[in-house]
Amino acid sequence: MKTILVTGGAGYIGSHACKALRAAGYTPVAYDSLVTGWQDAVRFGPFEKGDLLDRARLDEVFRKYRPSAVMHFAALSLVGESMENPALYWRNNVLGSLNLAEAAVAAGCLDFVFSSTCATYGDQDGVVLDENSVQQPINAYGASKRAVEDILANFGASHSLRSVIFRYFNVAGSDPEGEIGECHRPETHLVPVLLEVISGQREALSLFGTDYPTPDGTCIRDYVHVSDLVDAHILGVKWLEAGKGSRVFNLGTGTGFSVREVIAKSGAVTNLTVPVVEKPRRPGDAAMLVSGSARAVEELGWSPRRSDLATMVSDAWRWHQSGHYEK
Ligand code: UDP
Repeated sequence: MKTILVTGGAGYIGSHACKALRAAGYTPVAYDSLVTGWQDAVRFGPFEKGDLLDRARLDEVFRKYRPSAVMHFAALSLVGESMENPALYWRNNVLGSLNLAEAAVAAGCLDFVFSSTCATYGDQDGVVLDENSVQQPINAYGASKRAVEDILANFGASHSLRSVIFRYFNVAGSDPEGEIGECHRPETHLVPVLLEVISGQREALSLFGTDYPTPDGTCIRDYVHVSDLVDAHILGVKWLEAGKGSRVFNLGTGTGFSVREVIAKSGAVTNLTVPVVEKPRRPGDAAMLVSGSARAVEELGWSPRRSDLATMVSDAWRWHQSGHYEK
């Protein structure tokens, strides 16, 4: 059984990836600082507590498990926070990833799957973004991820590191079996925040910006189900195992929904009302981020199954009603 080192394996996407890896016959080793992750979410393989900034700890874990590949999820990922404190993002995301890439190369682990983001594209006036679109991030989160993409390209040229880089659009939903789910404290992402409003844990949804150049004035995003997203990661590992080399893939469905449309769908799925308070724009938000998603479908054979908005909201709602992790 091959072992995969999963950084951020106690987090939202990382824990779903561990579940998918286990189901695909791999042993996922979750490496996580637990700053934003949850030990309860580590259920599918060994857990190693550690920070990406701790190189000695990383070397120790590589020596202990000799993983055949790395899946690198661990990162800070909040656009708003990245605008308030960019240094935090450069230190954690860029220096942390540099440490990890160096440790992987030193250990001879040369297959690397990286979570990048559509935020690397920035704000591009309503065009659908494919992998060849220019990257011009408008927030520190996107800038930090683009820098890591550059590191991986350089390490590919100089150290034979092979990377599959996934640029995620907006990830939502939870494990359809309800075993794990999305849990951030505090929560800032649109779908789980909406569910907190719907369940009475918050008074109202703050709608950030109603004057964007979009049909209803609110931001448009391309939402993808976390289970579909992690399926692509399994295909990414297999791509590298097959010797197909470094490649970038967008992960989105190609369909965009405005914030108002997501609000309406969440109300319809739960059959409950959603109080909304209109607020100014949130710094760093692009008006529209929609994926040109053909490459992952055609080259990886990816076929998203649960990424329609109603399924994403209802999977997230089931998890929201049933469980949360405790520190
Ligand atoms: N959003 C909002 N209210 C919230 C959370 C998010 O209006 O409480 C908007 C946000 O401005 C963006 C979209 O919903 O236009 C998606 O935001 P999220 O934080 O979920 O993901 P991001 O696109 O920042 O990665």
